Amino acid sequence: MKTKQKGNRPIASLSLDLDNIWSYLKNQGAPGWETFPSYLDIAVPRFLDILQQWDLTITVFIVGQDAALEKNTKAIQAIANAGHEIGNHSFYHDPWLHLYSENEIEEEVALAEKHIKRVTHQHPMGFRGPGYSFSPAVLKVLARRGYEYDASTFPTFLGASSTSLLFNDL
Ligand SMILES: [Zn+2]
Repeated sequence: MKTKQKGNRPIASLSLDLDNIWSYLKNQGAPGWETFPSYLDIAVPRFLDILQQWDLTITVFIVGQDAALEKNTKAIQAIANAGHEIGNHSFYHDPWLHLYSENEIEEEVALAEKHIKRVTHQHPMGFRGPGYSFSPAVLKVLARRGYEYDASTFPTFLGASSTSLLFNDL
């Protein structure tokens, strides 16, 4: 693969949102999410293998609730140990985060941060809102907590906040 030649590689920013199966079940109102079923033990080794084959390091946005559960510890630690940047992807992965008060957002970000740090020994410097949810209050909280960037904007109608922005523009 030509991209393995370092020095000649194009510059790109790559990231992955580590959404777990429970978050999709929860958002769809499907039963069974309450026990936080996880496929991280299957998905993580697969994508780490692919990234290693391509000699790529990326940013992986981790959901705090997953970091809080011991059953996911090994998989999440493997990501950090492979040298990837760990980002904060909120605690409860509620795509309506942009509707929360500043205090509620602070709790979400701080709780996720606590568990992500405990498991990965990395202090997240970046944040991505669940479902690309985004609000000025999110930015305020992130700035106050010393984050270097927010990666929640996504120029499509698919994201929650993007959708509301589109509707507001009509
Ligand atoms: Zn997500």
